[in-house]
Amino acid sequence: MHDNTYIQAQRQLSRYLSLTGKRQSMERNRVLNLFCNELRPWTAAELVKALETESISRATIYNALHTLSDAEVIRLLPEQTATNEKQYELARQHNELRFVCTRCHRSGELKDKAVTDLISHKKISNFRFVGYMLTIYGECKVCRKTKTNKK
Ligand SMILES: [Zn+2]
Repeated sequence: MHDNTYIQAQRQLSRYLSLTGKRQSMERNRVLNLFCNELRPWTAAELVKALETESISRATIYNALHTLSDAEVIRLLPEQTATNEKQYELARQHNELRFVCTRCHRSGELKDKAVTDLISHKKISNFRFVGYMLTIYGECKVCRKTKTNKK
């Protein structure tokens, strides 16, 4: 569990809930937990599967996704999966440079000082820079290998 990530996300959610007069919910927190535990894009179907054993209904999970998106705790990714499913990920505020495998969703942090320096020093007119999230999509070694073997 990435403690700071969870605390930050919870704080953001609480702020939204008090503003909108909504209540905390155990189920929603379980969904948020998954996003914080595994920092990768999730589809609704994957969440349903992951929470299968806890008897959290599909409708509850979809509701949680809507609330968490509205609260800007998670965000909808512009790209969809190969099967046209929407993907959500934790909307973290801090600077981040990552790579994600589009097939297995394995992800990691990319340490590249040249790139982060370039972004951090970028001047955008009439815009105050507060942070960035850059995700590089591709195929990991394992997935590339499986693909080649199938041919
Ligand atoms: Zn992969």
